[in-house]
Amino acid sequence: MKIISSHTEMKNLSLTYRRSGRTVGLVPTMGALHEGHLSLIKRAAEQVDITVTSIFVNPIQFGPKEDLDKYPRTLERDRELAEAAGSDLIFAPSLKDIYPENYSTFIEVENVTETLCGANRPGHFRGVATVVLKLFNIVCPQVAVFGQKDAQQVVVIRRMINDLNLSVQLEVAPIVREEDGLALSSRNQYLSDRERAEVPRIYEGLRSARDLYEKGERSASKIRQKVLSVYSDAENFIPEYVEVADLDLLKPLQNIDSTALVAVACRTKESGTRIIDNITLGGDL
Ligand code: AMP
Repeated sequence: MKIISSHTEMKNLSLTYRRSGRTVGLVPTMGALHEGHLSLIKRAAEQVDITVTSIFVNPIQFGPKEDLDKYPRTLERDRELAEAAGSDLIFAPSLKDIYPENYSTFIEVENVTETLCGANRPGHFRGVATVVLKLFNIVCPQVAVFGQKDAQQVVVIRRMINDLNLSVQLEVAPIVREEDGLALSSRNQYLSDRERAEVPRIYEGLRSARDLYEKGERSASKIRQKVLSVYSDAENFIPEYVEVADLDLLKPLQNIDSTALVAVACRTKESGTRIIDNITLGGDL
């Protein structure tokens, strides 16, 4: 399978496909592909004629103290995995290709980027929205598939698509987990053995929130407290946030009248790995 590294070549190719009546789908990733990413590729491949997987570690979505330098880069392995999952092309541009000298344009999606991960990662969603809009403009997809794993990212991209009248259909794929419940993530490989043994508790907390909701509890603070109680004696991680928010604008809820997102971020103590996870209650993202 071909790896395309130039945005002009990618755009020309996509436009050629589209002119010949073929549909194009995009799965944006930062590489180090795992079964979560592959489920997105499979989902796209079922729906479109040409599936493009983009692989780009986007520096402007990393904070100054974050893991940009050590983020795993495994392009050749990614190529094989993506192809086996049904990807037709990989778009893996260089940094210069995406952000040439004097690059100056950034996308700010307001109201949905100040809470949850946005509160702890200033500038993160500005970087995400900017690169995703650029990828949309380069790959010209009719369909783009994102994972529920990054729930706030889905909300931000959905807002951007609506607000800017983009002609892209957004698909949200469910979270793929290890057998013990841990959500797959390229960052899980940073975990020490002791951390790895304990972090399935992060999902356990979310499951206990769902149990409480299914028993009829609708108080957001009681559900939040329940999750926190599951994390309270964890030795290897601390919660950064546990929030119960609405699915549209991510506003904190007092009561769950219809649907809700229960989102958590935790940081492990030894390796400092940040782990995010979430569930929805009463509906889908
Ligand atoms: P990333 O490479 O981490 O930027 O992720 C690329 C895409 O894969 C995003 O849309 C993520 O939400 C999605 N993704 C990451 N982990 C998972 C997972 N465990 N299950 C489903 N989708 C995932």
